[in-house]
Amino acid sequence: MKRQTSQLLREAEDRCRQSGRQWTAQRADVLAVMADQTGPVTAYELLDAIKSVHPNPKPATVYRALEFFMELGLVHKLDSANRFVLCSHQHQHHTAQFLICDGCGHVDEIPVPAKLLDVLEEQSARLDFEMADKGLEIHGHCSNCRHQH
Ligand SMILES: [Zn+2]
Ligand SMILES: [Zn+2]
Repeated sequence: MKRQTSQLLREAEDRCRQSGRQWTAQRADVLAVMADQTGPVTAYELLDAIKSVHPNPKPATVYRALEFFMELGLVHKLDSANRFVLCSHQHQHHTAQFLICDGCGHVDEIPVPAKLLDVLEEQSARLDFEMADKGLEIHGHCSNCRHQH
């Protein structure tokens, strides 16, 4: 379910101000372009898309904006695919969980019960392992891709 870009920007601005950070036009542009994408994008694809708004975007500005939105929980990075995607759950969760299609690259963000994270934490504590990133990335094939074959 895609929220309207203007609403997304308002929410992002609110979240930004609540955390005492600065909301800038550049950041708003990056998020707006991000919202126009149909799925997860690489930093290069995003930079390319931003050219429709700014003729000469600075890569560093775009990367910094992405990092900023990741800190706010509005954007997630899919490490295994090296792509960025908007949070689709308004971040009522502490980590991000993704189903990634290896066929078409489609990604769904799914809510995972706190219970599952508790189990993971328990198991890693038993091995005295400290988890840094609790995001789960699950690879497979989506319904569309499977039914084409
Ligand atoms: Zn999320
Ligand atoms: Zn697929």
